[in-house]
Amino acid sequence: MHFEIIDRDGLARTGILEVRGAKHRTPAIAFVDSPKFPAPEGALKVEPAADGTQGHLSLAPSEFTSSSVEADLKPGLRGSKYAPDAPAGKLAVIEGIASLMLDSNGFVAAIGRLKAGPDILKPSYCSVAGLPHRLALLTYCGIDLFDSVPLIMAAETGTYLTNTGRLDYGRLKELPCSCPACHSGRRGKEELLRHNYIVAENEIRMIRHAIELGTLRELVEARVRSDPWLVQNLRIMDLEQYDLQELHAPVRGTPFHAGSKESLSRPDVVRWRKRLAERYERPLRARALLLIPCSAKKPYSLSKSHARFREALISSGRYELVHEVIVTSPLGLVPRELELFYPAKDYDIPVTGHWDRDEKRMAEDMVSWLVGSQKYDLVISHLGDEREPVNSVLSDFVDTSMGNPGSRESLNRLTETLRERLPAPSEEDRRARDIDDMRSLCRFQFGPAGEALCEGASVYGRWPNLKISRGNSQLAMLTGDRGMLSLTLDGGKVLSEQGAYCVEIGDFIPKGNLFAIGVEKADESIRIGDDVVVVHGKDARAVGVARMTPQEMGLAERGEAVHIRHAL
Ligand SMILES: [Zn+2]
Repeated sequence: MHFEIIDRDGLARTGILEVRGAKHRTPAIAFVDSPKFPAPEGALKVEPAADGTQGHLSLAPSEFTSSSVEADLKPGLRGSKYAPDAPAGKLAVIEGIASLMLDSNGFVAAIGRLKAGPDILKPSYCSVAGLPHRLALLTYCGIDLFDSVPLIMAAETGTYLTNTGRLDYGRLKELPCSCPACHSGRRGKEELLRHNYIVAENEIRMIRHAIELGTLRELVEARVRSDPWLVQNLRIMDLEQYDLQELHAPVRGTPFHAGSKESLSRPDVVRWRKRLAERYERPLRARALLLIPCSAKKPYSLSKSHARFREALISSGRYELVHEVIVTSPLGLVPRELELFYPAKDYDIPVTGHWDRDEKRMAEDMVSWLVGSQKYDLVISHLGDEREPVNSVLSDFVDTSMGNPGSRESLNRLTETLRERLPAPSEEDRRARDIDDMRSLCRFQFGPAGEALCEGASVYGRWPNLKISRGNSQLAMLTGDRGMLSLTLDGGKVLSEQGAYCVEIGDFIPKGNLFAIGVEKADESIRIGDDVVVVHGKDARAVGVARMTPQEMGLAERGEAVHIRHAL
């Protein structure tokens, strides 16, 4: 058996599972194959005992029967600090799933154990639980293999499965499906089983597509609705396994719709808020805080409402001293200079004009943190719907919007307040604001070490495409599309001197891309999608984009670890 991960979306992945010569795409359902319940043609099959048939996977059809053990284990592991010994067993199996289906805390803890160590590189298998409407959440938790046992059990009890839940076959006057079984005009156990198989396989295809697009979380938030066990699992995953999910969440993900309560606790959204608290420092010269509402159009700067705010700032003559910070759900706050960074320009929310309690508390907490930590000379609230919770935590501030931030009167009040309360900016304030903004972005992306990229440097270009240069050498470039900094080799050298975002390799120059087998050690701050420096000792050899977690870089024998942009 051989397993290769192809695409990742958080803990979920697509892959190729090769079993005795036959290749199957994962996530996959392994089908029981017996005279009574024949497996669909070409499907991955489970067999109660290993008879060596080509393409069959020797799994226990359920945890209630004894499992056969396959001998040709090649899980693709090698020695590393994560894996002192190659673990036994060909699959990472969730044990005791029957009791975990009554116990969401237990289920989430089992996922945490399954994905914490070297087992992460093995195909993971969850028996019995894989009904179609549960497959998205289970895959989201990192499960690669399911079996057909629950589909058979459903057919035996007259349960008609859909991707949103279970229906009573006997009570359906019309069948809401046009698969060949439902379309046959016959209604029997055989047709019901065939339908259940088809629904499950269609859902698996949908899930694989979502993983490729990076949109599985949205599918999960939609699918969990019909089953309390699933909602519980997702919420407890977010509460108890944030660190694990965050480790696997790409730094640059796919745009998403934040349409449910759970969207507030997406790992990429929570990471945004935590990173602000852990890494953020405002641009030095921006000493007046201006809190403004978000816009539906992203990046915000391209919206009409934000163009008007900008006009009001420019006509005050105090533009360089003002720090615009956008108050928004689900991110909480977006400082203007970070508005291109994922997910600040990549989310969409339903706008009702009403903030619920969780959103209000989040806005209150983050605004309190901002004014407490960033030490402004002046605080201006220029907000709409979010005005009440934000103003409730401010003490010394000016409200210029009176609840209507876009009105001519409010905008004039904003301009006048800035003119009255702030001195005119100095030449130095005007000249240095760009590099101040860039320093704040560097710090957000690379941590405090990122500030080194701005030492003695200048910013060139036209927003959103900006370059950081020092003397004749370009260090990094911000592009509007990527929303983050891409390093040059010179920029990589600067970062490697700080020991940040480094992937250590042996004494060679990476040709093409860097594969996991070549990695000796990777900085634990690195996330998928991050710009990294490939180093040997103190020597920066290449820069590129991380394709796996630092944990996997240390463990895996196969797979691209860093997609190289420039090499020596
Ligand atoms: Zn059907």
